[in-house]
Amino acid sequence: MKLRPHHIIDIFKHLGNEQNLPQPHPYGHSQYLVVQMILNDPQQEIELICENDDICKNCIHINTDNTCSDVLSQLEQPVSKQEYNDNLDKALFKMLGIKPGQMTTVKEFLQITLENMPKIVPYVTHPGQNEKYTENGLFKAGKFIHKSVKTKGT
Ligand code: SF4
Repeated sequence: MKLRPHHIIDIFKHLGNEQNLPQPHPYGHSQYLVVQMILNDPQQEIELICENDDICKNCIHINTDNTCSDVLSQLEQPVSKQEYNDNLDKALFKMLGIKPGQMTTVKEFLQITLENMPKIVPYVTHPGQNEKYTENGLFKAGKFIHKSVKTKGT
């Protein structure tokens, strides 16, 4: 799978807060399919990218040139989600010490995320969310992923 770092982190934090993510979204995107794959195998390889990814497949907002047409309307001045996402992921690549095109596993990426939690929490808390939700979600997702791997006997 090819995934934006912040898209994986969004999944971790929502899973950790026990959101019911493995459901189709009104946008039609493929987040629920990616969640199922992560839950099925946290050891699977992923490629970290700084562009629209496998989650964006089938989204009503994906353009033919692989840009996103959506806006973050919760801000006073709505901003392009493409711009917001690109800036966020560029910052995450630096803070996490990773590079676009880097291969890792879901489990390893979660470990990198947890090691950098205090630094990244303000960045991966989107407008309208709160940092406690992010911290709680990432912490509990960590316990969940490790438990899943242990259950598989690896
Ligand atoms: S980033 Fe844009 S294209 Fe991708 S899933 Fe979100 S709204 Fe859809």
